[in-house]
Amino acid sequence: MESALTARDRVGVQDFVLLENFTSEAAFIENLRKRFKENLIYTYIGSVLVSVNPYKELEIYTKQNMERYRGVSFYEVSPHLYAIADNSYRSLRTERKDQCILISGESGAGKTEATKKILQYYAVTCPASQQVETVKDRLLQSNPVLEAFGNAKTLRNDNSSRFGKYMDVQFDYRGAPVGGHILNYLLEKSRVVHQNHGERNFHIFYQLLEGGEEDLLRRLGLEKNPQQYHYLVKGHCARVSSINDKNEWKIMRRALSVISFNDSEDLLSIVASVLHLGNVQFAADEQGNAQVTTENQIKYLARLLAVDGSVLRDALIHKKIIAKGEELVSPLNLEQAAYARDALAKAIYGRTFSWLVNKVNKSLAYKASDPLTTVLGLLDIYGFEVFQHNSFEQFCINYCNEKLQQLFIELTLKSEQEEYESEGIAWEPVQYFNNKIICDLVEEKFKGIISILDEECLRPGDATDMTFLEKLEETVKNHPHFLTHKLADQKTRKSLGREEFRLSHYAGDVTYSVAGFLDKNNDLLFRNLKETMCNSENPIINQCFDRTELTDKKRPETAATQFKNSLSKLMEILMSKEPSYIRCMKPNDAKQADRFDEVLIRHQVKYLGLMENLRVRRAGFAYRRKYEVFLQRYKSLCPETWPTWDGRPYDGVAVLVKHLGYKPEEYKMGRTKIFIRFPKTLFATEDALEVR
Ligand code: ADP
Ligand code: MG
Repeated sequence: MESALTARDRVGVQDFVLLENFTSEAAFIENLRKRFKENLIYTYIGSVLVSVNPYKELEIYTKQNMERYRGVSFYEVSPHLYAIADNSYRSLRTERKDQCILISGESGAGKTEATKKILQYYAVTCPASQQVETVKDRLLQSNPVLEAFGNAKTLRNDNSSRFGKYMDVQFDYRGAPVGGHILNYLLEKSRVVHQNHGERNFHIFYQLLEGGEEDLLRRLGLEKNPQQYHYLVKGHCARVSSINDKNEWKIMRRALSVISFNDSEDLLSIVASVLHLGNVQFAADEQGNAQVTTENQIKYLARLLAVDGSVLRDALIHKKIIAKGEELVSPLNLEQAAYARDALAKAIYGRTFSWLVNKVNKSLAYKASDPLTTVLGLLDIYGFEVFQHNSFEQFCINYCNEKLQQLFIELTLKSEQEEYESEGIAWEPVQYFNNKIICDLVEEKFKGIISILDEECLRPGDATDMTFLEKLEETVKNHPHFLTHKLADQKTRKSLGREEFRLSHYAGDVTYSVAGFLDKNNDLLFRNLKETMCNSENPIINQCFDRTELTDKKRPETAATQFKNSLSKLMEILMSKEPSYIRCMKPNDAKQADRFDEVLIRHQVKYLGLMENLRVRRAGFAYRRKYEVFLQRYKSLCPETWPTWDGRPYDGVAVLVKHLGYKPEEYKMGRTKIFIRFPKTLFATEDALEVR
């Protein structure tokens, strides 16, 4: 049989650490390409799994295959996410240490699919019981629900997650999944009121219109046709052939019932209310003040949101502020009224989404009295983003990736060092780029970008996006990773607009436009709209808008600060666990099978920091194996170890490598493993096995 290692000419190496020329990006990409062509979408960098989206169904996710990876050592079978899943699970069981699997990559790279496949793996392979079946079911069914509300068709992915997700699966002492908990990050609320050309709003709207029973739609005052709704037509593609909204609706409804949902009509009323809100129109009176012209919409809104119609109408066209304890009410002009309406739609949708996550969590909550033993976390979060036009959202997302990269480098180095130490081998320092400097630039107190942004948001008076940019220039002008038009030299200046700043991320330069930064960071909802919502008798809205918000003197946290704090909590969570990594890539922008776009892949290799990862992993030794495993594989190459070696495996390996002529600089003997410095040493040994 052709061994995995000797077939390397045709299918490449299954672990990048075995690349002869490990610092060469070209060799790295060539190896990926070879494997992709053979439908081998998985490759390791040590224990990190690199995955390339095949954009076609491969026969590698069968129950049989799941069994094949169960309890098997990492290197005995070809690379697979089941190996990662199984390995984490086994560490969790044997070492009783909490685990996490971090899945990263750009939109469309296959993160969410990977998460689902891992969950399925556990659902099939973990011990079962009646109670556990319910939990497994709920864990799996939480997906269609959250995807309906949190995913949308974008240009990059027909089912793009528009929120970050961290999911804990809790295991009992038998290793059975008994509960779960989800944390969500930064839902892209702006999509509720606007979509770019070729993109859609969140799936749920179309599902409801396409799949909703006539009765239901009548009660919600909705027509089947998405073209009727302003919030659904911005992207000019309400219907797409790749998505079957009607079918998805059924799946979503079933999923809702599994997570024991009995207030679905309240929930769908809210979904409908957002559509009606989008159709609220205004006209200016003689004074230029906005008046609502669509009474019908107000009528439906009043019913669906269970609020007083005239109060809502008034709230949509006035602004109330409290100054020195006095209420001041002023009329809004057309533009302001449209802004207020959209802000309300975003607030309603965003808060309902968080409420839904909470609801799912309640249904997943571990209820038995046995103490929990261990937790396995799955992180499915947006990768590094660089668009033509980058705004506040990209700024947050890329900041998040800086943090994850920092954690990744720290933890990889740490675990390498620990292994060397436990094996009694001297550590050889590695040169690497520490991106803490960029994290600090974004998040430092007082002089970080977020601090400065918040300061401008708080400043009464004439603060604008441009004054924010000026403040930035003053405060961080000498930072090596920060640049603006004004600060740039003659040559680079041309590439920067006057309202832009550029950050040199670990993954490359990104230019951000400050337009909208203040607004998005403030994320304000006028007070009278908030009041109206607090008085709602729709039980979900009522829970989403808490009265204490109205009386609370403290300003609510800005969007960026909230995000920063939730990220810092996430880092703590991840730090307390033993990490595994899956790095996802997409092979082309056309969502097509069998197309490997090298330029695109090269970008991702860079954004994912894979070369850096490989360098750290290869710093000392390319290859390491337990003595037993090594001896078992190669014992036939030495008369003294063949057919059996009776002594300690350590001594057997020592005899074996001496016989093979390994030079002292080529390897080291650790406590339980042999460390081999260069792949060629190992390949020579492999080849000997073949010719024999
Ligand atoms: P991401 O979450 O990274 O944005 P998804 O996981 O949603 O990306 O994947 C995008 C699409 O790519 C999926 O809808 C599916 O069609 C395809 N895909 C992803 N992973 C696989 C896989 N392992 N096998 C087959 N198709 C896949
Ligand atoms: Mg996704």
